[in-house]
Amino acid sequence: MTIYNGPPKADVHGREYARIGSLRAGCLVQFDEEHGDCMPDQAVRLVKCDADGELYVECSCGRHLLIDDEGILVGVYRMESKPRAA
Ligand SMILES: [Zn+2]
Repeated sequence: MTIYNGPPKADVHGREYARIGSLRAGCLVQFDEEHGDCMPDQAVRLVKCDADGELYVECSCGRHLLIDDEGILVGVYRMESKPRAA
């Protein structure tokens, strides 16, 4: 039996958090609460990539780097970046 000691992979409702490895520039992510004064709750942002290859989103302080915990972005959800046209 393996015991997983890493960060939670989903929130209490079972909604899965984004994995840094599955994100790239152009993806849409949604934040939950308390990501700082620069980021409103439930904010949806477009992922961008800086010259060093670091992923970030724009926020009211400028760039908000996406910092993962063992590959998982706790409190950040991946959204469909290309919703199908109706
Ligand atoms: Zn910020």
